[in-house]
Amino acid sequence: ALYQPPDITRPCYVRVNTLKLDVDSALHELGKQFKVQKDDMIPHLLVLPPHTDLHNHFLVLNGSIFVQGKASSMVAAVLDPKPGWEVLDACSAPGNKTVHLAAIMKGKGKIIACELNKDRAKRLEDTIRLSGATIFILLNTPISLNWILDIEVMHGDFLNIDPEGPFSKVSAILLDPSCSGSGTASQRLDHLLPSHTTDVVDTERLNKLAAFQKKALAHALSFPAVERIVYSTCSINQIENEDVVNSVLPLATSNGFQLATPFPQWQLRGLPVFEGSEHLLRTDPVKDKEGFFIALFVKKGSVKNSED
Ligand code: SAM
Repeated sequence: ALYQPPDITRPCYVRVNTLKLDVDSALHELGKQFKVQKDDMIPHLLVLPPHTDLHNHFLVLNGSIFVQGKASSMVAAVLDPKPGWEVLDACSAPGNKTVHLAAIMKGKGKIIACELNKDRAKRLEDTIRLSGATIFILLNTPISLNWILDIEVMHGDFLNIDPEGPFSKVSAILLDPSCSGSGTASQRLDHLLPSHTTDVVDTERLNKLAAFQKKALAHALSFPAVERIVYSTCSINQIENEDVVNSVLPLATSNGFQLATPFPQWQLRGLPVFEGSEHLLRTDPVKDKEGFFIALFVKKGSVKNSED
């Protein structure tokens, strides 16, 4: 029989790009056509009725609002970089979270957006242009300029960025690496395939992804001035989530980091597979529409404040 997805209607979410438009103006404009309200948890996120189609809406086309799910919008909000900070978005294309960071930083500071894949780096550049942030494309070596808020796009491998090099001053890192995507709707239909065709490939692929995720998170933890790191995936697999975090805990502890609790009011936390996993945040692939995972590492005794 054909698979019928459960008939669960979920609201639509849009994030107001406050680099271009304020939330009240967005509410006013969208309110002319739709029933719209503010999300009760994420600043600048608006909630619209299920199935609202905004893809051709002029506010989307001109970059004033971004269609972005609630789970995805949590990630940059959890990192919460302050205006004036230098922030590294380690695996950044197509750039939804990069431009969210830029909005949170209110147009002050610097973001380095690193992306390995050349075609995806182009999409990242398009997203940044649409957002209205200033963009600099780094060819080989970083150049020093006087920043207002600029996003430097770096086409390269995050693992090759020297933590002691030109980006040694970054205060925060957002690490949203390649993952299986098993928390997203399209991937969740995988189970329709006969299991013997997927099992071997899946295990091998998951092991490879997890190995990269662990390396990347360990690398992020080695930047000397970093005070906040968010690790996120759109996967529901323990091997890409709790296991990755658990594997770097000794390094995190010795580098002065501890797990913090993003959105303490959120009910669904990490799988109880190690002590401290209650700090982790999961979203439910069915109830919340997308299965995301978020971990927040904070440097102990960190006093970093805004505008410094
Ligand atoms: N944060 C993005 C957003 O919200 O729009 C989505 C990021 S996507 C999950 C992961 C990205 O990491 C992909 O574009 C992939 O090409 C890139 N990537 C994979 N390995 C990388 C590496 N070693 N260095 C930099 N980027 C990498």
